[in-house]
Amino acid sequence: GSLTVSELAAKLHREASELIKKLMGLGVMATINQELDRDAIELLATDYGVAVEDAVFIDELDIDIYDETDKEEDLQERPPVVTIMGHVDHGKTTLLDSIRNTKVTANEAGGITQHIGAYQISQAGKKITFLDTPGHAAFTTMRARGAQVTDITILVVAADDGVMPQTKEAISHAKDAGVPIIVAVNKIDKEAANPDRVMQELTEYELVPEAWGGDTIFVNVSALQGDGIDELMEMILLVSEVEELKANPNKLATGTVVEAQLDKGRGPVATLLVQNGTLSVGDAVVVGNTFGRVRALVNDLGRREQTAGPSTPVEITGLNDVPQAGDRFQAFKDEKKARQVGEGLMARYREQNLSESSKVSLDDLFNQIQQGTVKDIRVIIKADVQGSVEAMKGSLEKINVEGVKVNIIHTGVGAITESDIILAAASNAIVIGFNVRPDTNAKRIAEAENVDIRLHRVIYNAIDEIEQAMKGALDPEF
Ligand code: GDP
Repeated sequence: GSLTVSELAAKLHREASELIKKLMGLGVMATINQELDRDAIELLATDYGVAVEDAVFIDELDIDIYDETDKEEDLQERPPVVTIMGHVDHGKTTLLDSIRNTKVTANEAGGITQHIGAYQISQAGKKITFLDTPGHAAFTTMRARGAQVTDITILVVAADDGVMPQTKEAISHAKDAGVPIIVAVNKIDKEAANPDRVMQELTEYELVPEAWGGDTIFVNVSALQGDGIDELMEMILLVSEVEELKANPNKLATGTVVEAQLDKGRGPVATLLVQNGTLSVGDAVVVGNTFGRVRALVNDLGRREQTAGPSTPVEITGLNDVPQAGDRFQAFKDEKKARQVGEGLMARYREQNLSESSKVSLDDLFNQIQQGTVKDIRVIIKADVQGSVEAMKGSLEKINVEGVKVNIIHTGVGAITESDIILAAASNAIVIGFNVRPDTNAKRIAEAENVDIRLHRVIYNAIDEIEQAMKGALDPEF
């Protein structure tokens, strides 16, 4: 479309006079009400570091696209979404596998188990969805990003070990989020098992069994031998009935990303948990800062589906980039709208990152390190798989050279993109690519913005390089 100078100025949040001066500098004489053609708009937008679509469409985003309430009569019962938490080695993974093996494979012969980050089982004609990333990392990541996907938490406590530090953490997380807890006292097959001691210890955290006058459900299980699994499933359904979990299946879908990665053959792949509405093949979607059209829906048994209703986890392809776990998604009727909103959200995201970062140059940073006012080196990590991102993040965060630390401001899976570079430029960060490369656009902008990109194939080398640089940065002669 075309815009006048003053309209474009408003969209760019600049003075019209400033734009006119810039246009003069570019050899274009313009007045305030003059209509600008696409080329001129592009020139100016580029000059301000925004893509044209962002500049043109950003004002359409003032509506909160995710906020829409349903009428009571449109709501239907939906399956509960369950997360399993607890201390390391208390049996979370074993329990998740055991539930899946006893409840899925038996009933749905022919399906081949796919690890898509979540799965669904049937119990007495009702469905239950499990997020199968054990531990509270997933839970925390999602909550940190403002997404609440869990309806019920299963707290696994080993009967031979009792309440441990991560048990306590899990309790805090669940309580903080207002999610009901069912306690699974695991490993009751063991000689040293003492379920009464577990109950006793948990009373300190206000988890009191009904037999003792409280209202917390305790189930004794052996994840290894499959004992108590049925009872545990029944208790989940009991709690979910009390919670009255509902959604409206007859509208476009919204929900949250459970997992995402770049697949060599299929491109960006994301597991979405539909939380409201129904997602269908062919729907246009905005997923975090990415967008596209749902090319295929694949369930946790590897079957292709046409639709996915509330509480259903489903893997999709067809996105333009890899979103992040915890990102929200929204389906749209047409792709153009999805694209506009997607690009607009990206622009908003950049803006937020720009305003959040303190604008120091590298020289300033060095001075400030010397003055002791800056205590961190900012890093963006991109890698081919989430595992490498986590490994790198963990190691970098441990670096501490005379009080100066590494601050990971952003991580992601997939190639280094334009938005990574823009963020790096804005926040004075360096970009580390592990087994990934910058795309053409990113490379060009990195050169223009002097953003340092470090590509590595060995995690140790990446860590070592930063550590050396930090030591150097502390050396006045550097
Ligand atoms: P996570 O770290 O909480 O995911 O724990 P895992 O599921 O990996 O289990 C840790 C160890 O405990 C493994 O060696 C399991 O085989 C064992 N384990 C898990 N559940 C049981 C159980 O019910 N009984 C016994 N005897 N061992 C179990």
